[in-house]
Amino acid sequence: MADYDYDLFVIGGGSGGVRAARVAAGDTGARVALAEEDRYGGTCVIRGCVPKKLMVFASEFSQMPELARGYGWDMGAGAFDWAAFRGRLNEELDRLEGIYRSLLKNSGVDTFDARARLKDAHTVELSTGETKTAKTILIATGGHPVRPDIPNADLGIVSDDIFHLEKLPKSILIVGGGYIACEFACIFNGLGVVVTQYYRGAQVLRGFDDEARGLIAEAMREQGISLHLGTNIVEMAPASADHSATTATATDAAMGATAAQSLELTATARDGNGPIWVKPTSGAPREFDAVLFATGRDPNSRDMGLEDLGIEIGRRGEIKVDEYSKTAADSVYAIGDVTNRVNLTPVAIREGMAFVETVFKDNPTAVDHELIPSAIFTQPEMGTVGLSEEDAREQEEIEVYCTSFRPMKSAFAGQPDRVLMKLVVSKASRKVLGCHIVAPDAGEMIQLAGIAVKMGATKEDFDRTVAVHPTMSEEIVTMKTPMRTA
Ligand code: NDP
Repeated sequence: MADYDYDLFVIGGGSGGVRAARVAAGDTGARVALAEEDRYGGTCVIRGCVPKKLMVFASEFSQMPELARGYGWDMGAGAFDWAAFRGRLNEELDRLEGIYRSLLKNSGVDTFDARARLKDAHTVELSTGETKTAKTILIATGGHPVRPDIPNADLGIVSDDIFHLEKLPKSILIVGGGYIACEFACIFNGLGVVVTQYYRGAQVLRGFDDEARGLIAEAMREQGISLHLGTNIVEMAPASADHSATTATATDAAMGATAAQSLELTATARDGNGPIWVKPTSGAPREFDAVLFATGRDPNSRDMGLEDLGIEIGRRGEIKVDEYSKTAADSVYAIGDVTNRVNLTPVAIREGMAFVETVFKDNPTAVDHELIPSAIFTQPEMGTVGLSEEDAREQEEIEVYCTSFRPMKSAFAGQPDRVLMKLVVSKASRKVLGCHIVAPDAGEMIQLAGIAVKMGATKEDFDRTVAVHPTMSEEIVTMKTPMRTA
């Protein structure tokens, strides 16, 4: 038998790679190494979920004085200090990165701060010039944001850049209608930036339940986000005297000011580049302090030596794997966003755990990608599990139970916010096929509802459960009559 340096070499120190490396080393005593070219923790910890959620928290405070006034508090709007927040954010990210590094060290994993590529199916070449061999290689290199193919697209920022901005822009154009676009439209709006969003399709959050995404779009507009559907960006350039454009600050502020817009904000986002001139597919050219492209992410599979090993790569760069995350090369596996299956942190972690079970614990474990609950951290949030009404209707006869109402907390303060609770139920089996919640903290609610749906709960199981009163989520067990059948 060949004598390898390691039993496992993991490429990529994000959520999936770190989990697989430390469990393989810690639980099975395997000799494990991991290479990471950037910061440990990957997209989720360093430039995704974690800093994004902290920005959500920061942005929500701008709504609170108005709400508090509705409850009798004498409270005025304060100023948001981006530099102070960013400083604390960076300290927190440093702390988390330290935890990831020590988890690996304490599990006995050797780490290399280097870029790695495959020389052959058992050999990894590092950017330091070293070469290491391993019985099994796991690729967990994640993905990266992509800009659309238009002139001067590099004038725009992508999600990775947000956390490094020296100053908040006064105005921003967000291009895209997916998770990142909608979440950051709400975040920037809450921080007092004048937000315009262009989405090329008919409604944002394509693929999610129509009623739920419709309510999110309505709430975003209500909060002052200038959302333009069926609109894209054709061209952009540094703003100059040659470009006559309407500034976003003037137009959009007039369309609906948020409480936060009174906060003091300074200067432009693209430090040194100044305002950006943008030509949309319809309407007059405009100027924005910053343009954020939230137009999707592609897998990090380029220049890794994979094609030479016969490993199949898909159109977007995704590594093709089987249900056990194995590539066409028997000793090479891949997990997480680089495989472009379900691009969520907890899914990458599960794929990593299933890989360890399969390869190191002699327990072949396929990853279960069915009924994954998830949340979109817009304001309000959307929590969702299972089929949308539209997808379920294609599949079988259904009943739809749905209610939309003004929640007690904001209604008391005279605010217009609405929430939505919706169940999509199979007429034949009575199983809840989909649950969709639009509400503050819907992410917290859907985690729990997700257990019931994953267990195959029926509508009658939901009905048998006593309501927790007074809450928003009690409606999920008190909807008696279907709103419609299809
Ligand atoms: P998405 O794939 O969700 O959305 C991309 C958006 O950009 C879509 O609206 C798409 O339009 C649009 N788009 C794509 N290409 C172009 C183009 N050339 N011009 C104009 N618009 C374009 O990607 P995101 O970047 O928002 O997020 C990436 C992934 O990260 C998500 O799929 C998700 O898995 C993960 N994520 C999860 C989060 C969570 O769980 N809360 C938060 C953030 C990210 P169209 O709909 O027409 O294709």
